[in-house]
Amino acid sequence: MFDKFGRNINYIRISVTESCNLSCRYCIPERGVCPKKNGEILTEEEIVTAVRAAASLGIQKLRITGGEPLMKENILSICERCAAVEGIQELCLTTNGTFLPKMAKDLRKAGVHRLNISLDTLDREKYAYITRGGKLERAMAGLETALQAGYDKIKINTVLIGGFNEDEIPGLAELTMEYPVDVRFIELMPMNDEGAFGKEAFLSYRKVLQALPQLVPAPQDGGVARLYRLPGARGDVGLISPLNAHFCGTCNRIRITADGKLKPCLHSPDEYSIRGLSLEEMRSQMERAIRDKPEWHGLLSAKNPSRAGRCMNQIGG
Ligand code: SAM
Repeated sequence: MFDKFGRNINYIRISVTESCNLSCRYCIPERGVCPKKNGEILTEEEIVTAVRAAASLGIQKLRITGGEPLMKENILSICERCAAVEGIQELCLTTNGTFLPKMAKDLRKAGVHRLNISLDTLDREKYAYITRGGKLERAMAGLETALQAGYDKIKINTVLIGGFNEDEIPGLAELTMEYPVDVRFIELMPMNDEGAFGKEAFLSYRKVLQALPQLVPAPQDGGVARLYRLPGARGDVGLISPLNAHFCGTCNRIRITADGKLKPCLHSPDEYSIRGLSLEEMRSQMERAIRDKPEWHGLLSAKNPSRAGRCMNQIGG
């Protein structure tokens, strides 16, 4: 379905939980997450119905996210049922990777086509710091297992944070030499966690180009990342710049939060509830959300935080 600005909305991201086994400082506030009770989050049935409603409006790509989606006890069944919905051509999942050693094979069997793995540093201590206690070895083992399970085109998501990982840009990009993966540097987005980061943390994507002058432009794939490649690499380096070169003009997505709110724009406060609705009712809510999708997400900067009214774990990224 096209929105009123002529954008073809063909991609939905659904968060299946707000909970996470990690607690990344830019994603989850220091006070932690108050776990939602069962009656407050979408059921498996509602998730599948939402995917059916979306597919009936022409949505072809689905991403499952969270919180950490692999913590959800019925995640394999959710993936299997969503992958089978007529019209869904691509099922992707975003994860911190730490459960992949156990689950990568089963996710493939359940019909998950693609994985994005979040990884902000290759230093064990810094990983433990940014994730508030995570173990880098588990995420790296997750990446290795996913590759062994046959996943290709894995995307590593790295949030670029001034004073934390800018010195690791070359090392992280080097992963594209070692593995057949893309590494995508994402500008840190100022969410609703005042004071979590000072303005020096908000780096422009241009830092990556400065740190890696040997990058050459690569063929673009139509996604939000601008793609480059290191000479001889097996994957691309992608730059995602929601702050310094926003891509709202080509935004093709809507989102559903774990508590059943349809968000037409990541950074807008607009939400449409779909909990407890029938397929037809969900479909009308989606039509409304797509029709009224904002033209852009408004100015985002250290001084102008997101108007989403939620932290990222409550949206899904
Ligand atoms: N737990 C999963 C994971 O770690 O990938 C999925 C959920 S997480 C919210 C999805 C993505 O959002 C991750 O790649 C994460 O790095 C990104 N993210 C979270 N907060 C962000 C922020 N403030 N700015 C930029 N990216 C953010």
